[in-house]
Amino acid sequence: MIVFDTVKALQEHLLQASALGRTIGFAPTMGALHQGHISLIEASRRTAGLTVCSIFVNPAQFNDPNDYARYPITIERDTAMLEAAGTDVLFLPPVSEIYPGGLDDLELYDLGFLETVLEGKYRPGHFQGVCRVMSRLLRTVRPHHLFMGQKDYQQCMVIRRLLQLMDIDDRVRLHISPTLREADGLAMSSRNLRLEPGHRSQAASISAALQYIKDNIASGDSGQLISDASAIILDHGLRLDYLELADANTLTPVTSWDGRQSMVALAAAFLGDVRLIDNMVIS
Ligand code: AMP
Repeated sequence: MIVFDTVKALQEHLLQASALGRTIGFAPTMGALHQGHISLIEASRRTAGLTVCSIFVNPAQFNDPNDYARYPITIERDTAMLEAAGTDVLFLPPVSEIYPGGLDDLELYDLGFLETVLEGKYRPGHFQGVCRVMSRLLRTVRPHHLFMGQKDYQQCMVIRRLLQLMDIDDRVRLHISPTLREADGLAMSSRNLRLEPGHRSQAASISAALQYIKDNIASGDSGQLISDASAIILDHGLRLDYLELADANTLTPVTSWDGRQSMVALAAAFLGDVRLIDNMVIS
């Protein structure tokens, strides 16, 4: 595995690889890697000729400065995991390589409705920050295949939109990998490392609530189902930002199901000061 920390050196290497006809697969991450991240690397290796992973904790996407300051960093372990998974290239840039003009960039991405609901509503500015780092990374890596996780359902929709805004949606294929979970159902997440030992067992209540919705959904009003599922999370001592049903393709809220529409149940909740998100598709 070759490690680069500058845009220029990475671009030179990848241009050469492209010229030799190798397709490029790209999995962007913020590090503190787990098996969910590695599943993206594996998907890329099955699809592309050369697999690039980036690790960059993006200051522009943290609406809470404490969350940024406490984000787990485990570079040595991450590097070993990526190497063992057969990653070809690791991009490990400092902030100045990604934002050479500083963080006060004025470019705004028109994400429309997507930015007003769920994560967009509870984390103002978050998706603008995601688009800023992703547009820089996409211009640098120029991947043919982009690998992201369903765990961040709304983010995948934002990136689909970004590819259109950048006019590269016909050139970059977005592959969405299923969410990998711990044995008790908890979605794997870098933030799980920050859970206090006493909190870890409560965290699985989020996936349990989503599964409860999936198992008990019936056509008609979903109000009672959502409050019963919310109670599962609240009874385990978490604070709920949201637990909602939405259309799987548009994320418009669904309060009454016609029995056919594809939906997704999405949740965000705090356990101590750690914010966890998860979702399950209901089709
Ligand atoms: P992050 O490092 O949290 O920014 O995540 C990097 C990529 O890994 C994103 O595309 C995530 O959706 C994906 N990812 C995170 N957790 C999981 C998981 N449990 N299963 C599959 N993919 C995941």
